[in-house]
Amino acid sequence: MKQIVSKEAFNEGLAKLLTEYDIYGPVRHPYRGTHSDTDKIQYQQVHSFDEMEWDEKSQFSPKSAVLPINQLLFYFVEDQWLEASETMRKILVFLRPCDLHGMKRMDEIYLNNGAPDYFYERRRKMIKFVVVGCKETYRNCFCVSMGSNVPEDYDAALNIRDDHFELDIIDEDLAVFAGREADFDIDYVTENTFSIEVPEEVDSQYLAEHDMWREFDSRCIACGRCNYVCPTCTCFDMQDIYYKENEDAGERRRVWGACMVDRYTDIAGGITFRSKYGSRMRFKAMHKIYDFRKRFGYNMCVGCGRCDDACPQYISFSETIEKVGAVMKQKLNEEDPA
Ligand code: SF4
Ligand code: SF4
Repeated sequence: MKQIVSKEAFNEGLAKLLTEYDIYGPVRHPYRGTHSDTDKIQYQQVHSFDEMEWDEKSQFSPKSAVLPINQLLFYFVEDQWLEASETMRKILVFLRPCDLHGMKRMDEIYLNNGAPDYFYERRRKMIKFVVVGCKETYRNCFCVSMGSNVPEDYDAALNIRDDHFELDIIDEDLAVFAGREADFDIDYVTENTFSIEVPEEVDSQYLAEHDMWREFDSRCIACGRCNYVCPTCTCFDMQDIYYKENEDAGERRRVWGACMVDRYTDIAGGITFRSKYGSRMRFKAMHKIYDFRKRFGYNMCVGCGRCDDACPQYISFSETIEKVGAVMKQKLNEEDPA
């Protein structure tokens, strides 16, 4: 159902949904950014549309609403354990088209990559998505190149206009807004300020030995920011916390992990895989534009550009993809100069 909804009617509709739903959207935190005098825009629970920030790209993705940064799984006492409860309320997440494509990748990893992840599935069943159309591209976005610019498979979608919203409701449970019927398309960008070419042919063995990764050994500082801001990075670590009062009791949590940070690949026996930072960059890049595609048929990276925005060393992931393409072209030319 497509309708025009005034701002007042939209907030009244949200107020109705709030009786059943926890609503998540990007919120601006003034002067809380990484650099002095900068703001931070991060996803969190909101109670009205006015709390959300849509004029700029959020530095963090909506991933935290779906996969909590720190998720309690179960409690244990000696050989007994008790499953931690999950929210009984439904969840509504407002997000951009690229981030909705990112959620599809999260679902692939947690639900379709072998047996479904019990804790992810339990929360995911409660979640619906409202796409907010993009009228213009932001700095470092390359969603068009990654095919993630067009909003698809949403529960509702909206265009933000000066004094009203254009609202497309697909899920009847969300049809609580008073408005008049209208016809429109949800906004999406058809061009970014730059485009990249993702190589079709990728020889991962050849690239594993290639010295293109060595520049990152010294440039990267393994801070992991590129992982934590990424809507498609899905790794986590397990942490067992033992209570001080009774050391046989405690809780198991999973917390976001990051393939770029130290200790991620440590295993028993004191062995560390990919100790060089460039090797970590190779692993991450191959996962985003090759390994995932090999399994699921499309690229993992959605081109949100947040990793480029966040890197303190000005390492550009989009340029890295271009370099992979150039190396592969050079290899093919050497093999077949004609
Ligand atoms: S552009 Fe960077 S942050 Fe965004 S999906 Fe791709 S790898 Fe992740
Ligand atoms: S954000 Fe930049 S410096 Fe930090 S781990 Fe990622 S590539 Fe390395």
